[in-house]
Amino acid sequence: MHVRRKLVAGNWKMNGSLHQLTELGAIAAAARAASGVDVAICPPFTLIASAVARGGGIPIGGQDCHHQSSGAFTGNVSATMLKEAGAKLVIVGHSERRAEQQESDAIVRAKAQAALAAGLQTIVCIGESEEERMGGHAITRCSAQLAGSIPELSGDAELVVAYEPIWAIGTGRTATCDDVREIHGLVRKVLVDRFGDAGGRIRILYGGSVRGDNAAELFAVDNVDGALVGGASLNAEQFVPIIEAAA
Ligand code: PEP
Repeated sequence: MHVRRKLVAGNWKMNGSLHQLTELGAIAAAARAASGVDVAICPPFTLIASAVARGGGIPIGGQDCHHQSSGAFTGNVSATMLKEAGAKLVIVGHSERRAEQQESDAIVRAKAQAALAAGLQTIVCIGESEEERMGGHAITRCSAQLAGSIPELSGDAELVVAYEPIWAIGTGRTATCDDVREIHGLVRKVLVDRFGDAGGRIRILYGGSVRGDNAAELFAVDNVDGALVGGASLNAEQFVPIIEAAA
């Protein structure tokens, strides 16, 4: 039986400004008070260096990286560049990128592999669409994404998996605890089958309209090792209760 610390990671998406970094002070204080919880914030690329400087020690991450370390890839940022900017982690395969940038499982896997190689804690996102869930295909879809997107474990950097049902992201609708239990159980089984004991140590986050008022019941579900939080991570008032619920 593995004891896994909870991880509460915020994804600011394309939101935030230098002024908004003032929120990090209260978030860092809550993180220090919740000593058994890991907390991280992933702001837009342009804010990473400033967030590292002003974040009170909270690990700061990117929301994506390219799978190559450098080259003619206009507009992209590599894992090694994130690392140099002070990032400690990166999210890859978020459903918004899978949809808007047409990122395939193979691309997500390559990005994750590059991120781990650069020494970044790497959060790989999976999750089904509403159509897939309504059609009874959530397990098939998540299984395929796990098979295609999860990289080999390499080096010391930590792999994390985030289950984010697309229909729950930014909608105010949260998956039921039974549905979360089922998919997180599936993720755990796939990880243990593939990585053995190490698969039992990999943290699995839930994401999709997590708030202060629903976090505690989600965190009580088997194999829920924390949350990936979008909207509610943008300010301390909404994010701190989620950190406290994980403590
Ligand atoms: C996300 O985008 O990863 C997310 C979970 O968003 P929200 O918390 O706003 O649903």
